[in-house]
This record gives sequence, structure tokens and C-alpha cells, in this order.
Amino acid sequence: MKNVVLLGSTGSIGTSTLKVVEDLPDRLRLVGLAAGGNADLLIDQARRHHPVAVSLHDPAQITRVRNALPDTRVLGGEAGLLELATLPGADVVLIAIVGTAGLAPALAAIRAGKDIAVASKEILVMAGEIVMTEARRHGVKVLAVDSEHSAIFQCLDGHPPESVRNLWLTASGGPFRDATRWTREALAGVTLEQALKHPSWVMGRKITIDSATLFNKGLEMIEARWLFDITMPRVRVVVHPQSIVHSMVEFVDGSVLSQMSTPDMCLPIQIALTHPERVASDRVQTDFARIGSLTFEEPDLERFPALGLARQAGETGGTLPAVLNAANEVAVARFCERRLGFLEIPTLVGKVMAAHRTIANPDLAQVLEADAWARREADQC
Ligand code: MG
Repeated sequence: MKNVVLLGSTGSIGTSTLKVVEDLPDRLRLVGLAAGGNADLLIDQARRHHPVAVSLHDPAQITRVRNALPDTRVLGGEAGLLELATLPGADVVLIAIVGTAGLAPALAAIRAGKDIAVASKEILVMAGEIVMTEARRHGVKVLAVDSEHSAIFQCLDGHPPESVRNLWLTASGGPFRDATRWTREALAGVTLEQALKHPSWVMGRKITIDSATLFNKGLEMIEARWLFDITMPRVRVVVHPQSIVHSMVEFVDGSVLSQMSTPDMCLPIQIALTHPERVASDRVQTDFARIGSLTFEEPDLERFPALGLARQAGETGGTLPAVLNAANEVAVARFCERRLGFLEIPTLVGKVMAAHRTIANPDLAQVLEADAWARREADQC
């Protein structure tokens, strides 16, 4: 039995994680749940899973949660997240909180000797070097929940970085992949509704916009660089609209291994939580004859400047990836408020990156400072 703490239980990854735990009741037990502001869903989840403790970010609703769950410890705020991340008896902490709030709990969990499963990209994008160094020092695993990184992890199967020629991240290409229909002129007029229609995955709002701009793939490139200790030039991207091949590893001998399945986030979540075992589940079925064909194409760096910006940030390293991430969050929020055009998202991120003086080998305080600086800078652009 593995005891799981789930930070971000009411979001898209969180609710999928509950499905996985319900699929495997004799393997997985939820001992801690944290949510942002959705008190009703948190209460409902706690009544079904009986965790030792829960935490809610919104202080206004904590009393209501306490009254609804008299037998559960109810925590709040940043302290609540840290307490859950270090909960005695927890084996693995799955971090699926949007934004930078997952970083401190991730480090706290590692220092408490717990494996972490990472769904929040920010953790490795902003502080990949710090997180991986701490994980090595404490002998814990950093497991990938993202479908691409789960695929690479499965294909690598313990082979060292020297055995890899390239990692190939696949990208669906998003709703604007068709270059004939979505010229740069057409992209300039993209509405929020159009950007929120993702062809293959149902996800939260921020990541759906990031998938349309390809910033999501850019962040994943940086994530892969740290997770698998591979230099940035060897992290490559190929567009694969069917989203069946979740990513590939090209080994130094020329052999390429891929991991394939019908897209369903429950699979990478299950693999992370049951690692190193393979556990039977009927949830995901893949019918190749029905899929028919798998196609691949070069990503369009001109229509999607996010990929170039992310490569630049990943190659420069230091505080620049944190700046890219923060500026993108501000730009996406503004696009969602209809105050910024679709093509202005990468333009704004590029401007903030150009204005930043990168600090090499930053500590956590410097990373957070760069994040705050980038948000202020982006606000003034
Ligand atoms: Mg992904």
C-alpha cells in the first residue's frame, strides 16, 4: 500500500488522480488532500477517501470545511501545504498546484525523504537544478506526471544520459496547427474561445492556452532537460497531431523507442504512483486499426515563437527559465481577460526576457526574486 498526498486535488490532474486511486484501492491510499478554493469538492473528496488531513488555500471557507469534516485535520494557507508535504507516513507527494505555489512544498517533501510526483511544470522549469540536486542528496525520486515525460521515463528504463542521442517530445500542435488556415495574420485575431478548444486533451485553462501558443511544449523542453539530465540541444520537438505517441527516446545506436496509448492522463498518473511496478487496469485501451495512421511534422518556429524562446531560456539557464515562465503567466492571464492579442503573448515574454540580467547558479531566493521581477516587468509592458 502506498500512501499518497495530493496537492491540487480539485483541478484536472487532481480529479484524475482520484480516479486512479479509486481504480486501485488495494494499492493506493490518499492520506492528504489540498485544494485552492473549491471547498465543496474538497469536502466531497475527503468524505469518500478519509484522508488524515486536508488543506484549503482560501481562509474564508476553512470554518465551513472544519464543520463539514469533524474527524479530519483541516489546515490552511502555505503552512498547510508544507505540513501535508511532510506528513508522517506519506510515501509520495503528487504536486498538481498551478503556478509557483508548489515549489516550497516540493522541496519540503524531498527534505522529508518523500518521493515527489510532479505535475506542476513550474517546479522544474524554475528550479530544476535545485530540485534535482536536493532529490539526489536525499535519495528520493522525482517522478514525472506529464504524459511526455512519463513516456520518456518509460522508454529510458534506467539508461544513463550518455546512451541518449536525442529526446523527442511530441506536440499535438494545438488548435492552430494548420498553417494554411492559421497564418500569422489569422493568429493575430484569435479569440479566447478559439484558443480554449484543444484537439486532443481536456485540461485546465492556463495549460490549454499554453498548448495553443506551444509555450507548454517549451516549458516541457526545460522540464525534460532537468528530469533526465540531458543537454538542451538534445531535447527536440516534433508535431504529432494524433497524440498517440507520447514521446520518444532516440538512443546513441540509432534505435528509437516510443510509448503509445490513447491519450488519458490517468495512465501517466498511475505509472508515477505505482512505480516501479506495472499494475493492471482496464481504463486505457488503444485500437490501432481504428487510429489508422500516425503522422509527424516539423514545428513551425515562426508562427510559434514560444519554442525558440524556451530553447533560449533553457540553454542560458540560471534565472532565465523562471523569467520566461512568470512573464508567460502574466501574458496568458491578460489574454484571458481579452487585454492582449494571441501573438502578443510570445512578444511580451520575449521583451521581458531581453530586459532580464540572468544570474547563473541561483539559489531558491534568487529564483523567486527573478519570478517576482518578471511579473512586475511584464505588468509594465
Ligand atoms: Mg504534456
